[in-house]
Amino acid sequence: MTSYLLERAWVDGAVESDVLVEIEDGRFTRVEVPGRVGDLPGETSAGRSQFPRVSGETTQLPGLTLPGLANTHSHAFHRALRGRTQRGRGTFWTWREQMYAVAERLDPDSYLRLARATYREMVAAGMTSVGEFHYLHHQPDGTPYADPHAMSHALVEAAAQAGIRLTLLDTCYLSSGFGEPPQGVQRRFSDADVEAWATRAGAFRPTAGTTRTGAAIHSVRAVPAEAMPTVADLAAGRPLHVHVSEQVAENAACVAAYARTPVEVLLDHGVLGPLTTAVHATHLTDDDIGHLADTATYAGFCPTTERDLGDGIGPGRRLREAGVRLTVGSDSHAVVDPFEEMRALELDERLASQQRGHWPAADLLEAGTRHGQASLGWDDAGEIAVGRRADLVTLDTASPRTAGTGADAHTAVFAATAADVTHVVVDGRVVVRQGGAVQTREEIGRELDAAIGSLFS
Ligand code: ZN
Repeated sequence: MTSYLLERAWVDGAVESDVLVEIEDGRFTRVEVPGRVGDLPGETSAGRSQFPRVSGETTQLPGLTLPGLANTHSHAFHRALRGRTQRGRGTFWTWREQMYAVAERLDPDSYLRLARATYREMVAAGMTSVGEFHYLHHQPDGTPYADPHAMSHALVEAAAQAGIRLTLLDTCYLSSGFGEPPQGVQRRFSDADVEAWATRAGAFRPTAGTTRTGAAIHSVRAVPAEAMPTVADLAAGRPLHVHVSEQVAENAACVAAYARTPVEVLLDHGVLGPLTTAVHATHLTDDDIGHLADTATYAGFCPTTERDLGDGIGPGRRLREAGVRLTVGSDSHAVVDPFEEMRALELDERLASQQRGHWPAADLLEAGTRHGQASLGWDDAGEIAVGRRADLVTLDTASPRTAGTGADAHTAVFAATAADVTHVVVDGRVVVRQGGAVQTREEIGRELDAAIGSLFS
């Protein structure tokens, strides 16, 4: 049994002081809240905190502790592009050419190194789960590796070594555009037909770490509508993710091909539902929003990537008001910072609407934690509560960014950055340690530098 005394913690939708938690076998067995801050008029946390209160076997964690944050959308190899794709003009489509150039160079060994370093960056930023939208399946000429799951195993091993929970979403990718065969590096993504994809994806068994499997439909561009039910069937009971309406051009091509929007095509073919995440969901009609709400589908926003790629600003507020659960992911990893993603839901809405105050901080934290974890199949994570997976993410509330902010939910959402994360526990296991890192930031930086440098040398 391990116990922690948390100076401040996000418990049951509020920040509490002096929270005692006990952990056994990776789960919370006790969560004791002495009393809600602000119960009495004029009471402040500084006035009532007895921190530190417990000594001996109990580890004291000063700062503000959150449940585990979920990174619901990742392509690990895109991390190699950070800072290298910012020259000159272009669009999503010109960026994609640069992304493909990296995809051409990876093999299972170099992918393991790059993904491990990328996942270490994530876990140091407070992300305790990652949804890997994995489509780099085959050798450069499109033939399977001797082990057809070699790249999947590399990702599973990378996550296990980094200490992050992984939901590996085996992605079906069959065409370059509506009816166009895969070209060039896209042959690495394709299993030729949906039955071959289902056979390969259905046979995969992860052999390391805390891993779940799920499936993904790359997009309405890359998977013909008639193939979608096969993917949905294989995913049944597990997470199913799909890129949806990230680009206006994609919507126009979809309407030209099917006379339906991407959301409508997915609806017609049984893809939407309570274990499905519509990733991006940027350019939606009112009917699309209604369909996502009616089917209890998640919307997985990736605000820093959408910003980086010039995709546009998704209708976060309208989705939330329709009852759609939102989640956040770092996608291309132009930025790996869950706090930046959460606050972007509010701040981007401000830019689009010229109004402030669309999202309560508590709702943004729920998107980043509980909803995100559940959308990856970890519906027993994302809360500091008895019986839940024991994830703890502690923020320094006295850093130059967070000092003086009140050490409350607004600190977490509107002041903190990934650099303020001082302690991370995943399933009861310490991955980043306050006052003596398990993985130092310098080590993670060196590992990223080596993994990415070797790709460009
Ligand atoms: Zn993506």
